[in-house]
Amino acid sequence: LLTLAIETSCDETSAAVVRNGREVLSNIIYSQIDLHKLYGGVVPEIASRNHVEKISGVIDEALRAAGCTFEEVDQIATTYGPGLVGALLVGLSTAKALAFSLGKPLIPVNHIEGHVAANYIAHPDLEPPFVALIVSGGHTHLVKVVDYGHYEILGKTRDDAAGEAYDKVARALGIGYPGGPQIDRLARLGNRTAIPFTRTYLDQDSLDFSFSGLKSAVLSYLNQMKMKGEPIVIEDVAASFQEAVVDVLTDKAVAAALRSQVKTLVLAGGVAANSRLREVLDLKTKANGLRMLYPPIELCTDNAAMIGCAGYYAYKNGHIADMTLNAVPNLTLDLPAF
Ligand code: ATP
Ligand code: MG
Ligand code: FE
Repeated sequence: LLTLAIETSCDETSAAVVRNGREVLSNIIYSQIDLHKLYGGVVPEIASRNHVEKISGVIDEALRAAGCTFEEVDQIATTYGPGLVGALLVGLSTAKALAFSLGKPLIPVNHIEGHVAANYIAHPDLEPPFVALIVSGGHTHLVKVVDYGHYEILGKTRDDAAGEAYDKVARALGIGYPGGPQIDRLARLGNRTAIPFTRTYLDQDSLDFSFSGLKSAVLSYLNQMKMKGEPIVIEDVAASFQEAVVDVLTDKAVAAALRSQVKTLVLAGGVAANSRLREVLDLKTKANGLRMLYPPIELCTDNAAMIGCAGYYAYKNGHIADMTLNAVPNLTLDLPAF
């Protein structure tokens, strides 16, 4: 079964061809990062307009790279939420037009489910149940994946997402957008114990997160140093901030896996690319007898291959949309997928 998948929820225009869920025949990603860098973050209107310009070419390229034609594709999968409404609508409308004109099923995919599914591509033997730590630009979730398409949310952020905290701290440090990769790189040169930023664990036993306090602590540290006229070592700030994020994420993720009595913990979303997060999770999961999995970097951030994979399982679960399918900017994982 061949799935043509389309992803335009934020600032990547992407199309992929995936065979039977886990075999990626092509995965074309056009990133708009350079356009948004100028503004220090994603500008929704620019994102939508750029998706419109790029989507047809990206789809053609995905088919060419996979060596197949529109007629050979069995179904069209598309992200319909969560994300920026204008950006989502570009991929969604394109998918609807293709499904309608080709007479093929239209499969609605939750973007966050896609991030989790990136692990199915990377690890052919991975099967539910497992616990997923989903850390992306807009989400921070601990989820028990009970079965394909069946999720129990164990915890989530009460304010900022982890990636959002990275991006905001990076902006305050003046190191550009997106901040995650920059902080990751700088942190390797810094001292992780230089500044004791507080770790927010919330109530005992809570698997929820909060990152806005940490973000404010970094901002106020930077202000204080400036007022005192003392030098700021940005490598140390990056390393100390990152260590605070990673400590809390990894402690709660391991606790969630143990409490859920699963043997496997998977990491998903853009922040899953973070080298220190992977390193500490490896250590803590090993110490607790858990198997730790994460996708390769190119499948961590937004891409259509992960949507094609999730779309395959959505189809198997009977999730087929009609032409009334609309974008759902605040779609969540625990609502019935469709
Ligand atoms: P969502 O998936 O929640 O809708 P999104 O699609 O914008 O949001 P992703 O593309 O999954 O988010 O991830 C982008 C985020 O990942 C950004 O916040 C970016 O800073 C962060 N990120 C990317 N690489 C790294 C890294 N090496 N370390 C930390 N964060 C990173
Ligand atoms: Mg992006
Ligand atoms: Fe994403």
